[in-house]
Amino acid sequence: MDRLWTDFVNSDYHDWRGGDRSEDRLGKTEWQQGFLKQWQLNASVPASSEEEGALRSFRNELQALATRLSEGKPLSSKDQEWLNAKMKEGQVVRRLNAGDEGLKLSLIPAGTQWQQVMAEVAADFAITVVEGDGGRIRICDNADCRWIFYDDTRSRTQKYCDDKMCGNLMKVRRFRAKQKKDQQQE
Ligand SMILES: [Zn+2]
Repeated sequence: MDRLWTDFVNSDYHDWRGGDRSEDRLGKTEWQQGFLKQWQLNASVPASSEEEGALRSFRNELQALATRLSEGKPLSSKDQEWLNAKMKEGQVVRRLNAGDEGLKLSLIPAGTQWQQVMAEVAADFAITVVEGDGGRIRICDNADCRWIFYDDTRSRTQKYCDDKMCGNLMKVRRFRAKQKKDQQQE
């Protein structure tokens, strides 16, 4: 399932079929609009070139951090400081709401700038590490894909972002590679 932070990091899209459709979607107006709508955030679209630059360097650092955690490394105090600095850029308002399951206390983003968006993304990542498990962060095993996701299977063995897509593709590739090898041996 997509999370706010994985959706953000995966704006660096890789063509999982190994074709030439890889693209960095972060600077695209369409991507920015869809992302804000999906996560109910506000910011001016399109982001200015300065904002886009800040978003991209934040994205790349978060991607590197997620990769380190996926390799089993712990969150360092430097990483913690970095996340704290990013979260500080966004203010929140506390609000008590009546929902289907009773009252709920929510933290509503107060700002409408991209800085606020980055603070929300950093906070969502922090929640994953605190309430979840950083060791469950995965990078799709299809080298062409590299999609970052959170493995919430009980067995903790999810290798591919999607078994129907990357999982099947890799199965077919392994089968073909074996067939080729067998033919060469004949
Ligand atoms: Zn994949």
